[in-house]
Amino acid sequence: MAGAKAADPIVIAHRGASGYLPEHTLAAKAAAHAMGADYIEQDVVLSRDGVPVVLHDIYLDSTTDVARCFPGRARADGRYYALDFDLDEIRQLRAHERLMQGAEGSPVTNYPRRFPGDIAMFRVPTLAEEIDLISGMNASRERTTGLYVEFKAPNWHRAQGHDLVAAVMSVLQDKEYADRPQQVFLQCFDDRTLRRLRHELKTPLPLIQLIAENDWGEDSAVDYDYLQTQEGLADVASYADGIGPWIRQVYLGMDESGATELSELVNHAHEKGLVVHPYTFRSDELPEGVTSFDRLLDIFLQQAQVDGLFTDFPDKARQYIDRQRQIALQ
Ligand code: CA
Repeated sequence: MAGAKAADPIVIAHRGASGYLPEHTLAAKAAAHAMGADYIEQDVVLSRDGVPVVLHDIYLDSTTDVARCFPGRARADGRYYALDFDLDEIRQLRAHERLMQGAEGSPVTNYPRRFPGDIAMFRVPTLAEEIDLISGMNASRERTTGLYVEFKAPNWHRAQGHDLVAAVMSVLQDKEYADRPQQVFLQCFDDRTLRRLRHELKTPLPLIQLIAENDWGEDSAVDYDYLQTQEGLADVASYADGIGPWIRQVYLGMDESGATELSELVNHAHEKGLVVHPYTFRSDELPEGVTSFDRLLDIFLQQAQVDGLFTDFPDKARQYIDRQRQIALQ
């Protein structure tokens, strides 16, 4: 991964084509494949019987009907943890668009123009099932669409007595993806997990250090301000191949003349040989001062020169990149 800047930036379908179909359903992953994503993202947590399942939260309640199917199975905090359910129970659930409790007590969605939240016809896939879907579509579509796997809350899993990393790597091994560095990225917000993967487990797969803000509560043991400094990035380069910052750590806003203000993060990362894959590009949630999705992509791909991006709308990013390539050829 040294040398950092690739010829064409990669399109990573964030939780699948989640702008169009409920996140992390096989339907959203099939759509992302058809839309020409280069990589499709898997967030992974464990079931009680230790099976890696593709789910963004360690909870089941925001994206499935678990509360209706298994009343009384929430912990004291009111949440239904995937780790408290065996796989055969998780298989009984119906997945839907992410919902939150609204002010009136009725469920609401963050993105009202997306897939209707009251249609719950999907399942929570295992990691193995999702890999079968993607590799199957790679065969039928003659593609090499890759996996982009995130270890969710590995330290929390460990405190609950489960080794998430070992379980995920075992599935990748079984599916013959553990030795395909061209087709798999591994990502995590926790640097200790990435250091273990690189130094102890000696994975050949490229590793991406995700960068949050310290006040998000993502992982209290990691200092994300430090990771963005020159010293921190040099440290990251000792165990990882790239960083995944969020949009606002790169794009700072517009100045009074309307010019884009960028941080030095991408340049500093590239100087250290790290690729940069920021998250999350949403055409229905543009950052302040940005008037269109294409304008947002201009800022990140032309000005900031990132190496790839996580997007809920892989078709729009694919079309933009293909159009730019056509222009460059003229
Ligand atoms: Ca993720």
